Formats: sequence, structure tokens, C-alpha cells
Amino acid sequence: MRASQLHIVTYRNDPADAEVTSHKLMARAGYIHKISAGLYVYAPMLQRTLRKISEIVRQELDGIGGQEVTLPILQEQALWERSGRWPVYMASRTMLTTKDRKEATYGLAPTAEEVVTEYVSATTKSYKQLPLSLYQINTKFRDELRPRFGLMRVKEFIMKDAYSFDADEAGLDARYEAFRQAYVRIFQRCGLEAFGVDADAGDIGGSGSMEFMVAADAGEDAILIEEGADYAANVEKAQSRLVPSACDGEAPRPLRIEATPAVKTVEQLQAFFPEVAADRMVKTVLMMAVWADREVPWAVLMRGDQEVNEVKLKNHTGGLALRMLTDHEIVALTGAEPGFAGPIGLSSAFSIVADESVRAMNNLLCGLNQTDKHALDVNPGRDFPLPTFAELRTARAGEPGPRTGAPLIVKRGIEVGHIFKLGTKYSAAMGAVFTDEGGRPKPFVMGCYGIGVSRVAASAVEQRSDSLGIRWPVSIAPYEVAVANLSPKDDELIATAEGLYTSLKNNGLDALYDDRALAAGAKMKDLELLGFPFVVVIGRGTKTDGTVELRDRASGATETLPLSALVETVTARVLAARRGLLP
Ligand code: ATP
Ligand code: MG
Repeated sequence: MRASQLHIVTYRNDPADAEVTSHKLMARAGYIHKISAGLYVYAPMLQRTLRKISEIVRQELDGIGGQEVTLPILQEQALWERSGRWPVYMASRTMLTTKDRKEATYGLAPTAEEVVTEYVSATTKSYKQLPLSLYQINTKFRDELRPRFGLMRVKEFIMKDAYSFDADEAGLDARYEAFRQAYVRIFQRCGLEAFGVDADAGDIGGSGSMEFMVAADAGEDAILIEEGADYAANVEKAQSRLVPSACDGEAPRPLRIEATPAVKTVEQLQAFFPEVAADRMVKTVLMMAVWADREVPWAVLMRGDQEVNEVKLKNHTGGLALRMLTDHEIVALTGAEPGFAGPIGLSSAFSIVADESVRAMNNLLCGLNQTDKHALDVNPGRDFPLPTFAELRTARAGEPGPRTGAPLIVKRGIEVGHIFKLGTKYSAAMGAVFTDEGGRPKPFVMGCYGIGVSRVAASAVEQRSDSLGIRWPVSIAPYEVAVANLSPKDDELIATAEGLYTSLKNNGLDALYDDRALAAGAKMKDLELLGFPFVVVIGRGTKTDGTVELRDRASGATETLPLSALVETVTARVLAARRGLLP
């Protein structure tokens, strides 16, 4: 293709709202154009990259028996009511909705478990039709709280979503493993360094799930890694070994109550009682668990030096969402100003749970639901009823990891894919059954598997760019090689450039001929920003001594080659790199 005939529009400046590299570079290179918050045009150049990513996904999923389908984006409320997920997505406000002329309400697909379960249930009656893996590459909508970071977090994006249907758990385990391996290959072939982490299943649900993360400082996810122990988990899910408190198992002392005027937080309490370390305190965190038709206030007892993990807490409460209590609610429910809640004399309106870190504590300091007072040398079981215990704490870097006790380190990551063992969550709720070998009806055992196709493109930019611009992996670059004629008015050089371009194309390479009438410096800057993996530079040297320059965008290396060796060299390099990071 000739660049002069393509819609290539580049900019000098970053967009004002761009915070991360991929957003800045993709906007400057004209790959994306913002229409409104979280809504972008994918320019023709980006379309080529998205097509290549999609093709890699197709090849790998077809390779494990996946079959491509297209599912409707408009999904009736009634269908989502059958799985029980309509109120969940209404509570989190994730789903965008619309109505048809008959006033029927639809959600715009944030994901498609209900639709695909309905389809398979209607068309798959016997175990003989199983296993079945279906996938689509289609638009998804999510009303994100904070759309940002260019294509990373948008309201409308391209997702590959796949769904597997098996007769039993063993089948699901095999399918999940096949998808996991396919995901490893997909991300490698897309040129990404991605790794799997243990993850929370969120509103999709199910018994097990793994996220695929691309390490990048701009990543919105925190991942805790126990080195040498094969343990990596999203902080939403991660565990650590608890470092005991000095007060664990201490001989109980008599309860004391002290005036603590306006002393509310753990830090303030530490200043007020310098002899009481934070790990001898119990804070009482109040949260409201929210359902479609009701709310339940929860009190969480947490050791003073630890933090509540809201994802773990939400899962524990079974609520559709959590929210903070208002000051007014705290006063009404505890009888004290905010900052003085505690397990002693707490209203029975609260459901109470204590983190495991509290289990062995004695002689602890806590609130007692009286403004400006705290209790010291409190002993659970003696001074307040023993609550239930659960693991609700946020694991932190530096703490001993769960496997070997090696200290956890933290990395930031971009979630590019997520696989889930759903089990029978959807099939049982929706009555989706097949007939097993013994003639009995059984719910399908399901898995689901997502990849953010448009987010993959942004992640590749985020992970591999440099100060000059994008550095596309060969496998997903809009063009693999650009032939840049720096003297576009010289007939002899035009002929040389066109000859090289044609030979490269004839060798099956995705080549671009940059014949634009730009100054040499501006043209090279543009090509660097656009990020083509190889650039062949035809200039004065070509005329004087018959050489051309080959620039490798990934390594930054420039080689001078005789004209006669160029096509063979570039072809060999591109073909070697086309399979991505795979050997
Ligand atoms: P996140 O935690 O980033 O919000 P998620 O866990 O809600 O993502 P999934 O339901 O697992 O997302 O969706 C599958 C994949 O779709 C994700 O792994 C991610 O790559 C992509 N994705 C999800 N939300 C968005 C979004 N708002 N914009 C772009 N891609 C997204
Ligand atoms: Mg996810």
C-alpha cells in the first residue's frame, strides 16, 4: 500500500487527557480518535492491528476445537433475570440499557453467558454433542465508573468471549487447561509478555479463575508474587501468612475504659496510647452490603495494622455491591459518632465478622460504641461474643507469601484476559440441561474465557514503546515493513523504492511504501511514531554507492546493506518474527 493514499494523520502533541503512554502514543499516531468519554474511533491503521490480533485468536481457538459464532449484543432483561444476574449488573451499574418500541428493556452485552447458555440449551440435547466450545469476537459495552487510559478502559470495546460446555467437571478441567495453554500461545504470538495470576471471579462467578496480566507500570491491577514459589495473585484475591501480634494468646487482664476525646483513627490512637502498637488494636470497619431489594449493615473486626479487602468482604457478605455507611447511618446504628464503633455493645442490626488476624488476640484495644471512649485489655469471648472469622485482610508486599513464606513482591499489571470455571452456575439457574449416558437430565458444566482484543493492542504499545513512539511486535503491526523514500522527487530513487516495495510484497510481506511528500526528518519521525518494525531507508547513499539502510525499530539498530541483499534480509527477519515471541 502507498502511504500517500492511506488515511495517516499524526500529531505533535499528546491529548490533554492522556495519562499513560499507550493513550498518548496511539492518539498522536492517529490510531485512535476520541469521540466522547470512553468512546473511540479505531482508525484504519489500528483496524489492521485488531484484525491481526483477532486472527491469532481465531487460529489458536480453532486449534483447541473452538467454533466461531456471533451472539446478539442486545440482550433482553427477561433472559438476564433467569440467571439472576440482572439485579447484580444493575447494582454495580455496569450494564448500559435501552428499550425497544414496545418498552421491553435490553442490556447491551457486557458479556454473554445468558445468551450462549440459552442457545446451547436449545440446540444441544445429548452428551454425544459435547464437549462444545463457542467463541465470538464482538463489541462489548460497560458503563465504567472511570473510562480512561485510551483503549485500556472504555465503554465500548472488542472482546473475544468464549464459552465451553462439558458433561462433567473433568471435562471442564480439560477445557480450562486447553484454553489456558491457548491463552499463553495467543499472548506470546501477539508479542506480549503476559503471565497468569490467581484471580477473583467477580460478577461472572464460578469456582476458579485466572487472569492474564501484562506487566506495565500503568497497569490498574496490583499483583502479589511469591518468588520461587510459583505463586502470583491479583491483590483482590492474594493471601499472605499472618505475622502474629505480640498480644496473641496473652494472659487476659481486666477490662479498662478510657476517655479518648476526638481520637478516632488507628494513627490517632497510637499517638494517644504510645504503648499500644497498631497490631494490638482492633478497628471496626462498617460497610453496607447491598442487594436489589435490601441492605444489610456489616461490621468487620480487623487488626489495626491490617486493611479490609473489599472484594473478599463482598464475597463473604454475598451482597451485590458494598458501600460505605453515611455518618448519619453510623450515628443512628451505633449510637456513637464515627470513629468509635466497636464489638462491645454493638447493635444486633449489624452482621459481624472478624478477620482471622483477630482470632488469637487478647488484651486488645477497640471501640465500644460510645463517643470519645475506647476500651483496653478487651478479650474476645469474655467482653464481647466470639464472632465468626474469615480471611478478609488485604495481603501486602513484604509479608510472607502463602506457599513458602518468601516475601511477597508487588507488580502492576494490565489484565488482558480472564478465564473462569463457571461450573453449573448459569446452566442450573437457567434450566439448561442435556441427557447423559444414563438418560438422565444434567446441567451443562461451563467455562468462560475472555480476551480484551482492543486492550491487547493498547498493552502492546504500553509494554514496548520508547521515547520515539510505538514499537509494534511484527505479528500485530499494521505493516511489517515500511519502505521510505527520502527523495520522493528523484525518478531513479522512486524506481528503486517501488522495486523494493514490490519485491517485499511479492515475498508475502505486509509492506508499506511511504511515498508521502514529507521532509526526510519529518518522515522518519512519523514512521518511528507509527511503530512499524522495519523501515527501509532509500536516500542519497542509494544513488552514490548502491546501499540502503535497514532500521530495526525494536532494537534501534541501523544497518547499511547492499541493495541486492535487502529483500532477502528483510524477508528472513520478518518471517522469523511473525510468530511472535514463540521460538
Ligand atoms: P477489569 O478488571 O479490567 O475491569 P474485568 O475483570 O471486568 O476487567 P472481564 O469481565 O474479565 O473484565 O472481561 C474480559 C476482558 O475484557 C478483560 O480481561 C479485559 O482484557 C477486557 N476488558 C474488560 N473491561 C474492559 C474495558 N472497559 N475496556 C477495555 N477492555 C476491557
Ligand atoms: Mg476480569
